[in-house]
Amino acid sequence: MSTHKEDYYVLLEIERNADGSTIKRAYRKKALQYHPDKNQDDKAAEEKFKAVSEAYEVLSDTQKRQIYDQFGHDGLSGQGYHGPQDPSDIFSSFGSIFEDFFGFSSEGGGSKKTRRGKDLQYDLTLEFKEAVFGVKKDISFYKQTSCEPCSGSGAKKGTSPVTCTSCKGSGQTRQTQGFFSVMMECYSCRGTGKKIKEFCPECHGAGAVSKKKTLEIKVPAGISDGVRLRVSGEGETAPQGQSGDLYVFITVKESKDFLRDGNDIYLDYPLSCIQASLGCKVQVETLDSKETFTIPAGSQHGETFKLKDKGVPSLRSRGRGDFFLRLHITVPKKLSKEEKTHLENYAKASGLPFGNDVEKKKPSSGFFQRIFE
Ligand SMILES: [Zn+2]
Ligand SMILES: [Zn+2]
Repeated sequence: MSTHKEDYYVLLEIERNADGSTIKRAYRKKALQYHPDKNQDDKAAEEKFKAVSEAYEVLSDTQKRQIYDQFGHDGLSGQGYHGPQDPSDIFSSFGSIFEDFFGFSSEGGGSKKTRRGKDLQYDLTLEFKEAVFGVKKDISFYKQTSCEPCSGSGAKKGTSPVTCTSCKGSGQTRQTQGFFSVMMECYSCRGTGKKIKEFCPECHGAGAVSKKKTLEIKVPAGISDGVRLRVSGEGETAPQGQSGDLYVFITVKESKDFLRDGNDIYLDYPLSCIQASLGCKVQVETLDSKETFTIPAGSQHGETFKLKDKGVPSLRSRGRGDFFLRLHITVPKKLSKEEKTHLENYAKASGLPFGNDVEKKKPSSGFFQRIFE
């Protein structure tokens, strides 16, 4: 801590005549901003947190505030007051206000709290066919893991944490508020029942360090966009506690060729109206094979041809969806001289008006009904 101390009122950004609730509000804002949980491994924030906490401790206490107003920092050090020494001491000094500020609550049951690490989220994007047939992917991410040198205790190697004197190792303290008495997580040891005398140099007492983890993810065949996979126990590890889970959120890229509807696959196949009229055979690549479809003469736009069990493997059962070839009838945009002659002959043979001829159809002919059915 620096020898020159900043003015408490300046630290909390309040007037010198600020009342109790103003001080409390100002402190709450600052404490949330610099709280160690939010600023991990940030020494400056930790210092700031200690400083604002100290300012609050003094200014919220009428007697201490009077001394401070009159004699400044020197007046308080003359009282033997030096402020909290480490963040965990801050928790012991401030007891119930942390309950209001940070929503710590009683866990009940009277036992020491077992900590569980945070769940993690990883976004994984798959190619269309990787999702269809499944794939193995190596993913890398950073997570908090139990510190090895101190086995997550936070205490320097060779030393061990001592029993917390505030809660006598139970991890809970009794708080009296008016007529009520409630059991709350011990602020001194944050519910662990132990206190560290000498910090582990590796994790500075946190018991956890951030480490890169590489993991092979087996994505099952048939997975679809928007699904999340849970990898149990691969989240963050709380010091001497349990691990959270890792959630892998799947995004599947679209295919240029195929359209997926559940486990069915659609392929829009462009076919000339002439071929559709005469009928033909077409060879197409499905997801994993080459197949020949017979298109009968007179096939219409939008008609589908089904190939059973050539769709997407089912995620939950053994089967597969179906593959559909869907006709997209096209009209030739340009005709050669010879092609034009043939088509005009076709039109004449069928009595179809073309060029400057005018077609006169009446709704009663049934033509309109048929086309809109
Ligand atoms: Zn305790
Ligand atoms: Zn450590």
